[in-house]
Amino acid sequence: MRYEGMIYRPPSEGESLIIQSTVGCPHNRCRFCNMYKAKRFRIRKVANILQDIEEAGQYYGDAPPRTLFLADGNSIVMRTTQLLSVLRKIQETFPGLERITAYGASQYVAHKSLEEWRELRAAGLSRIHCGMESGHDPLLRLVNKGTNMREQIQAGRLLREAGFELSMYYLAGLGGDELRKGHAEDSAAVLNAADPDFIRIRTFSPMPGTELGEEFLQGRLKLSEPRGVLSELRLLVEKLTGNGLLLSDHWLNFACVHGRLPGDRGAMLRQIDGMLAQPSDVFRPTGMISDSL
Ligand code: SF4
Repeated sequence: MRYEGMIYRPPSEGESLIIQSTVGCPHNRCRFCNMYKAKRFRIRKVANILQDIEEAGQYYGDAPPRTLFLADGNSIVMRTTQLLSVLRKIQETFPGLERITAYGASQYVAHKSLEEWRELRAAGLSRIHCGMESGHDPLLRLVNKGTNMREQIQAGRLLREAGFELSMYYLAGLGGDELRKGHAEDSAAVLNAADPDFIRIRTFSPMPGTELGEEFLQGRLKLSEPRGVLSELRLLVEKLTGNGLLLSDHWLNFACVHGRLPGDRGAMLRQIDGMLAQPSDVFRPTGMISDSL
């Protein structure tokens, strides 16, 4: 098995076998993201991917993995025929897999038809991790996310209709104080329309090697204080109408809010209110971090 550069995967894929199908991210221009800055994007040769899967099969032997993640960023950008070859080899090598997942930003999801997504689902790909970050168009433009609210809704619905599990990521605090309301409300609108199985909360922190990191160092980017970010999260939770599981599974978050919507909304709001009543020094300091999302 061969891996190029730093490999990222969602926390929920911590025990998954990782097969690198692409190197880097085909977009690689989000102004907050440093994950794949050191990599020039390319799709790996399918023959090499198949060889890696075969080697993994030999390595695992009688104790195969339960789940598998196709790295790197947006490996769904591969042609559907290429992905199908990879998925067939995976199923042939590990017939008992419970889950095959990949990252998929909305603009790349929208490139494929419902029919193609159904084929991929039938071949075993089962969950897409979609970095929505925000549903608010002015903010999506500001951070150069490469998609918009309409496309995020279309992509989410497409995947749900094709039978995928969908995990969508919200980046709290990304719009600062100024765009807070629009960020929370429009993101809730996207999440309500797509109704993902999982809503995963992340909190924005500028990172080295990114444009927003540079702006922060130059004093041109003002971060929201923890209470501002929590009040944004409160507004988001208030506006959500779907049935997904909301998870705060990242150490940068200011509150560990978890719950199934809509039943746990009240408890989550009370928990956020409890955090909002805490003195400022209970929160981690805001600022630049060296870790990645
Ligand atoms: S946030 Fe996602 S789409 Fe944007 S550059 Fe990073 S990996 Fe690529």
